[in-house]
Amino acid sequence: MMLSSTAALAHATEKPFAIAIHGGAGTIQKAKFTPEREKAYRAKLAEAVEAGYAVLDKGGESLDAVTAAINVLENSPFFNAGKGAVYTHNETHEMDASIMDGKNRQAGAVAGVKHIENPINLAKLVMEESVHVMLSGDGAEEFARKQGVTLVDNNIFDTEGRYKSLLRAKAKMEKAEKELKDYQAAHQSLDTEYKVGTVGAVALDKMGNIAAGTSTGGMTNKRFGRIGDSPVIGAGTFAENESCAVSATGHGEYFIRYNVAADICARVKYQGKSIEQAGNEVIHDVLLPVGGTGGVIIIDTKGNMSLPFNTKGMYRATKSNTTPTYVAIFKDE
Ligand code: ASP
Repeated sequence: MMLSSTAALAHATEKPFAIAIHGGAGTIQKAKFTPEREKAYRAKLAEAVEAGYAVLDKGGESLDAVTAAINVLENSPFFNAGKGAVYTHNETHEMDASIMDGKNRQAGAVAGVKHIENPINLAKLVMEESVHVMLSGDGAEEFARKQGVTLVDNNIFDTEGRYKSLLRAKAKMEKAEKELKDYQAAHQSLDTEYKVGTVGAVALDKMGNIAAGTSTGGMTNKRFGRIGDSPVIGAGTFAENESCAVSATGHGEYFIRYNVAADICARVKYQGKSIEQAGNEVIHDVLLPVGGTGGVIIIDTKGNMSLPFNTKGMYRATKSNTTPTYVAIFKDE
């Protein structure tokens, strides 16, 4: 009895620390899952959030918690980042990632990389080892090589499921292009499932600093070197201690045009709103009416977390020093 009340007291006076992760939002429906598949997704989400939490628990930095959690998701074929990244129109994989440090607004990003096993780690290297914020394509890979990163074959990211998804997306696009006689309109008509995926994490460490990171294979059947919101600071990723840290997943073109992550933090900073209110406003009142599908994970320096999305589901998980591991996929969990 004595022991447990002492433990409870220690818990209550401990500095808050917490992490939230996502593995993408979209047309995720319970009917499409076998019990085994659902269990495997939940286990992987739990593994990722716990990998990040372990860093925080040991007194590590929120930035390292973010990369630890994202690495688990990048290394899993279940999610559209790293292994399991979607296919481009040319049947390759082009990945984007970004990371931001809430204590000083340092940030790093990579776009359109093809031979980097863990793009979030390269984004962190860009932040820490270069004078730039965003590097792209061959240049980003040349920088990686100079930093001692081993380049990998593009086909290590191949998965059968994503390939079938590309073939379906191509067939749908061809049909729509014939009917609509317009690439843009045909693209717009493509189902949400081809436009969303992505993984991300936001964390608060014991030093009171927050960070956010996002990593993605982008959009199925993308072409012309298309880059989404995930590597764009302010759109797919944002962090500043004075307001909040956000990682987004969704139809990137909307998230860029509506500057989603930064808009949420601006509402917190300048309008004094809670992260929950600010997130709900942007996801449900701003994005949904214009057709922008997706969701975000948000954290503040008190350890509050909010995970709003306007799709059928979002792979997500949280853990803090006062709350146990929470894992969810569908709405209303
Ligand atoms: N936002 C990503 C992009 O547009 C995709 C996603 O989140 O699934 O590239």
